[in-house]
Formats: sequence, C-alpha cells, structure tokens
Amino acid sequence: MRLVDKMRHLKPRLVRVSYGSAVVLGLARGWLKTKPTTSYLLTYLEERCLANCGFCPQAKDSNASLNLLSRVEWPPYPAQEVVERAVNALRRGLLKRACVQVVNRPEGLNQALWLVEHISLGGELPVSVSIPPLGRRGLEAFKRTGAGRVSIALDAANRRVFDEVKGLNAGGPYTWDGHWKALRKALEVFGPGNVTTHLIVGLGETERDLARVIDKLLSIKVLPALFAFTPIPGTRLEALPQPEVASYRRIQLVRHLLVKGIVSLKDLEFNHVGRLVRIKASSEEVMREIESGEPFETSGCPGCNRPFYNEKPGGPLYNYPRPLSRQEVEEALSLLRDVVA
Ligand code: SF4
Repeated sequence: MRLVDKMRHLKPRLVRVSYGSAVVLGLARGWLKTKPTTSYLLTYLEERCLANCGFCPQAKDSNASLNLLSRVEWPPYPAQEVVERAVNALRRGLLKRACVQVVNRPEGLNQALWLVEHISLGGELPVSVSIPPLGRRGLEAFKRTGAGRVSIALDAANRRVFDEVKGLNAGGPYTWDGHWKALRKALEVFGPGNVTTHLIVGLGETERDLARVIDKLLSIKVLPALFAFTPIPGTRLEALPQPEVASYRRIQLVRHLLVKGIVSLKDLEFNHVGRLVRIKASSEEVMREIESGEPFETSGCPGCNRPFYNEKPGGPLYNYPRPLSRQEVEEALSLLRDVVA
C-alpha cells in the first residue's frame, strides 16, 4: 500500500466522537451508566473504508450507517473544538487517554496525523492511534506526532479466519503476514510494550487458536486487547451470533494469566474441538486472580475501558468497563469452575 507516500498533516473540519466520549467532553448531553476513561475519536470521511472487514460498519461493501463503529454511535463534531476539549479533559484528569481510530483511506491517515499531534501536544499527553498496517515511514510519521502507543488490529486469531473475515477472501487488501510484519515494525518504531492489537472473539476460531495467538503476541511484546464479536445490521457478518459468555470468560482468564506470566501455553489443556478444559496451575493462584475480577475488565492500552462497545448496558457484559461487584465475580466464577484444576 503506497498510502504513506502521500502522508501529510491535514486539519479535518469534523471528527467523529463516540457518544460516551462526547458526553464526557461536554459536546453532548446524556446520562452514562459508566463513563469512558479514554476519549474515542474516529476520522470523519464521507466515503467508506478501502478495506472490507466483515464485522465493520465502515467497510467498503457494508450497508450499515457510517455513524457506527461496533455498536457505538459516533456523531461528528468540529475538529478544533474536539481537540481543545480533549486536551482540557486530559490535563484535568477527567480522561486518562485519547484514542484516534483511523478509517483506511489516505485522507483518514492524514487527518489522524493532525489529530494526534494536536491532542498529544507533540507527546505531552497520552494518545493511542489505531491504524491499518503501515510501513516504517508511516509508523515513524505517527511516532513524530507524539503518539505514545499504536494499535494495528489483527482481529482474527488465525490465518484462515483472517482471510475469510478481512483478508483476500473478504475482498479486502489485508494479509495475515502483512499484519504481523507491520506489528513487528511498529515494535521497532514505538518500542516493546507500546504496541497493542485487537482480537475479536467469536469469528469462527477455537479457544486454542486464541490462546496460541495471545501467547505469540506476548512473546514479541505486543499487548492483545479482547473484543467480543458484535453483529451489526448491514455488515457482512450481521447474522453471526455473539460468542457464549462462558467461552469469553475462559479466554479473558487465559489472556490475563498469560499476560501476568502465571501460566504458559503448556499449562492449558484443550479438548478435541479446541475448547479449554483445564488450567494446570496452582488453583489458589488462579482463584485469586478470578476473585480480583481483573481478568474480566476491558483489556488494552492503559486507561482504556470502552464502555458498552460489545454489549447493551443491560448486559450481558463481555468486558466490564469498571471493577466488578461481588455478585459479578461470583457469576464469572460459576462459569469457570470446571477449568480450574
Ligand atoms: S486498546 Fe483502547 S486505547 Fe488502545 S487502541 Fe484499542 S481502543 Fe484504542
């Protein structure tokens, strides 16, 4: 992709702001069950993305509203005002981070460069940027804007699912190898620990596939953030169901234990269909982690809680955007008893 040749900082007229972020920034009025701790912004374009990910309302062949990303509404607001309010909220500690998400078109990348530079104040404030796979020059351009972290979404847990959902079989420009190459380049440019990727649970992979890919990502110091697949009307995958909550809890627990180094891949036992059946590690230690509720909170860049990205506020909650109540911990535990040795 030669997008990077055309990269320049382009001040956008408008930027999309997730509804919850718009309320926190004072751009919209509303009551929030849980406030976002990160301000989520999305580049505003009137055209669809050049890519064709089957789950995404912005995709080339999707008929869904361009106001959506996952199940969240992202109305547009004047960019200058959004930037000023985001800087102010970050400085006052009302937000821990800003995240600029980029629609894959040259204008999207150009707008993102301007947004990141002006919100991070050249690196003073914590800003993540979520971009399509770029080469070194593109990554360095974002690094120079002051982005502290970069995310390149793998989304799929294996090559087959990747090809079907967002790769060549989906009519998209992406390849599994190209994404891994970009993640490795991003590590060189941003440094180990400063690169995030997103994994969507429920695209047709097994729990074993997810455990393996999480382990591989961690081995190269890329932090995986989990999402639950969410069907959006008008997208190619609109008829695919969400994953079972019990399966999602197993993957959250596996991710958490692998991130903390409490288990390794060989401690995880899977059955013939790739479902986790047992965690062969100290059950006290594993129980302590479950009891903390931490494995079930939103994962990703520091300070990112993404309230209700994957769920209706009434639940079930796949990712808790806040610490769990005692009852919520008990519910998670009841779904996990059979895998704790
Ligand atoms: S984990 Fe959160 S802050 Fe980081 S790139 Fe993903 S959505 Fe943005």
